[in-house]
Amino acid sequence: MRPEEARAERLAASVAEHELDVLLVGGAVDVRYLSGFTGTNGLVLASAEADSAPRFYTDFRYATQSAEQVPATFVREVVSIDLLEAAVGGLESHGAGVGRLGFDETAVTVKQHRRLRELLPEGWELTGATGLVSALREVKDAEEVARIRAAAELADEALGEVLEEGVVGRTERDVAMALEFAMRRLGAQAPSFPSIVVAGEHSALPHAEPRAVEIPPHTLLTIDWGAQLEGYCSDSTRTYATGSISGEQREVYELVRHAQAEAQAALRAGPSGREIDAVARAIIEAAGHGEHFGHGVGHGVGLEIHEAPRLSRTASEQPLRAGNVVTIEPGVYLPGRFGVRIEDLVLVGEDGGEALNGLPKELTEIA
Ligand code: ZN
Ligand code: ZN
Repeated sequence: MRPEEARAERLAASVAEHELDVLLVGGAVDVRYLSGFTGTNGLVLASAEADSAPRFYTDFRYATQSAEQVPATFVREVVSIDLLEAAVGGLESHGAGVGRLGFDETAVTVKQHRRLRELLPEGWELTGATGLVSALREVKDAEEVARIRAAAELADEALGEVLEEGVVGRTERDVAMALEFAMRRLGAQAPSFPSIVVAGEHSALPHAEPRAVEIPPHTLLTIDWGAQLEGYCSDSTRTYATGSISGEQREVYELVRHAQAEAQAALRAGPSGREIDAVARAIIEAAGHGEHFGHGVGHGVGLEIHEAPRLSRTASEQPLRAGNVVTIEPGVYLPGRFGVRIEDLVLVGEDGGEALNGLPKELTEIA
């Protein structure tokens, strides 16, 4: 069974559970997840009845591509009219001709919503149904885990190459570009997000852009980077010492490393993202740095660099599940001075987590 077939089955069950007859899926990432289609204009219509084939709609430009990518278990239509109009036309294949059509409120524009209401046949009800597909995407299958692992290994290898060339005296921008080039040369489609390479006081900004400023010796250097491979992202962070650093910098580094390790050790199916966040936060707060850790401890990673589940103070209390792939990335940022963040990408299992990336986390001096 192709992964797309298993996903279609899981989706049918979820559509039924949400008391819908049919779900309209339009977000490009969700469409890709369900159908394998990587183009930009596709729609999937999924029924609550598992034995009713999901339908896929695209336009003329993607006739060949969709034929290659979309499994034969879909009814595939290449249409010359508006995809929404074609999809609503597809509702007629559903039983009595009345029912509830769900759509993702975060993927449908106001204009599309108005159009849907105009097109909807008599007797059909339009219902907001957000996040059904992204909920499925939270639990990765073996093929997805393999892709994320390969992306993480590629990213590690790329950083290893760049560090070997030396970074002190080069600009943050130059190192970021070298890293992105190395990832592409090793086979990545692209970086999974713009790489962060920030030294000294600049490392106190969690999401700063690399500057055209030379990386000095004897400071902290934070590198947050990831590769995209076959659609799947990796995401990790390491903070390095570019020579000897102060006792305070070393102390903050060890604090973050300890908080990161403890949160990662607590990770398994069962606790919520909120509870895992609290593990790291309690350690950082006890050291007096609570106000210097202003972001959540992690997030899901998959086809998107940031996806569900979230691990933060405000995250849901839903238990994490085996098959989630999440980051654990506490940080401490002292404004105008320096910052430390350490991030691993971790597969959640029943009894614990497994890091998919692998560079050492002990404080390492680089030149
Ligand atoms: Zn990151
Ligand atoms: Zn991250």
